[in-house]
Amino acid sequence: MFRFSDRNVFKMWGRTTGGLKRLLLTSTLFSLGIGSDEGALSVDPKGYIMYCPCMGRFGNQADHFLGALGFAKGLDRTLVLPPWIEYQPGERGSSMVPFDAYFNVSAVNHFHRAVTMELFVSQLSDTVWPVGKRISFCYTARRGETEQSCNAKEGNPFGPFWDTFNVSFDRSEMYGPLSYDVYHQNAGKAWNQKYPATQFPVLAFTGAPASFPVQQDNLNLQQFLVYNDGWKDRADRWIKSNLPRGPFVGIHLRNGVDWDRACEHVTSSNHLFSSPQCLGYKNEKGEIYIDLCKPAELTIIKQIKKAVKKVGAVSLFIASDNNYMTDILSKELRGMDVTLHHQPEVHPSAHLDLAVLSRSNFFIGNCISSFTAFVKRARDVDGLPSGFWGYPRPRRHHDEF
Ligand code: GDP
Ligand code: MN
Repeated sequence: MFRFSDRNVFKMWGRTTGGLKRLLLTSTLFSLGIGSDEGALSVDPKGYIMYCPCMGRFGNQADHFLGALGFAKGLDRTLVLPPWIEYQPGERGSSMVPFDAYFNVSAVNHFHRAVTMELFVSQLSDTVWPVGKRISFCYTARRGETEQSCNAKEGNPFGPFWDTFNVSFDRSEMYGPLSYDVYHQNAGKAWNQKYPATQFPVLAFTGAPASFPVQQDNLNLQQFLVYNDGWKDRADRWIKSNLPRGPFVGIHLRNGVDWDRACEHVTSSNHLFSSPQCLGYKNEKGEIYIDLCKPAELTIIKQIKKAVKKVGAVSLFIASDNNYMTDILSKELRGMDVTLHHQPEVHPSAHLDLAVLSRSNFFIGNCISSFTAFVKRARDVDGLPSGFWGYPRPRRHHDEF
């Protein structure tokens, strides 16, 4: 049976009020020499990029992370790795989970210099970024208490994020029309000319210096976003103790009420959220339509059957934010000799779902979803095959019904 024994530890680390506890704990780990990124702690004369992952949930934040990493590389500044911002269903506010509670900092360092926000704040900020010299960067002024300001701490999660690190800003800098595109617009040079590290050691952004969905040029940076050993083990153990030995198909069913509302926008443009992952960034691989977002039951069943046959699967792993569809699926797959599995319905761990989906022999996800997109990119890194509900669009239209 699945047990998430570390959950409370993360909760304790994540709570805003637990900020001090967390800092003490990380600095203790560091002074014991357990920190994996000791080398990053000398001051980088080329400066730092810092940001709040203030938009969306994990999938959006992961897209933004890849963009911010590409941006930091383009400016040749150390990236300060922000915590992940999580929202508990039915609870107000937000909690901050350190970057390295899930992911490996040294894997990021294989690409570029990076240090966690917790370590930066506890070890470096007094020297590099003292109180009185903290500038928040935004493209244009944001609405809020102060006129012509980034109002970087206005609203949730903006305020709680910076408060976790006891950061307040002394002034704002509106940097428009500078862009984040370090690949085509020579942004790296432009930024460092306008904001040299000697005068601006830390560029602290109100939101991620990145686009959503992730810019195509940054897709391959996924290879540096790797689960830490704790999470790799957890996924391994879950698979070993819950799935029968043999190939399995993993599916992502994104079907909560928020998704129904999101899918209403399918008709209003060529792209929606992460749709470039199947349609191509210029729609070179297809046009958007409703089944990509809200696949019909028959579409789902047909695709699962095809995938099960293709890889000779003995089981099906189902991840969902709402409805695992086990009644209909067990009925429809009765003849196929596959067992169905998912996490317990109460508080399933999103990261366990992501890590298990990433390991399946075949994966089918939702093309519009950035949660799916994380899995798809991770699988691409490992050369594993993936598909999407309703893609490619069946040629005979009555197939969809
Ligand atoms: P998107 O909205 O699908 O683009 O992806 P986001 O990650 O931005 O937001 C969806 C959120 O819903 C995730 O971060 C999870 O918290 C939750 N969620 C969506 N799908 C799943 C799933 O399959 N399993 C679990 N455990 N949570 C999910
Ligand atoms: Mn979302």
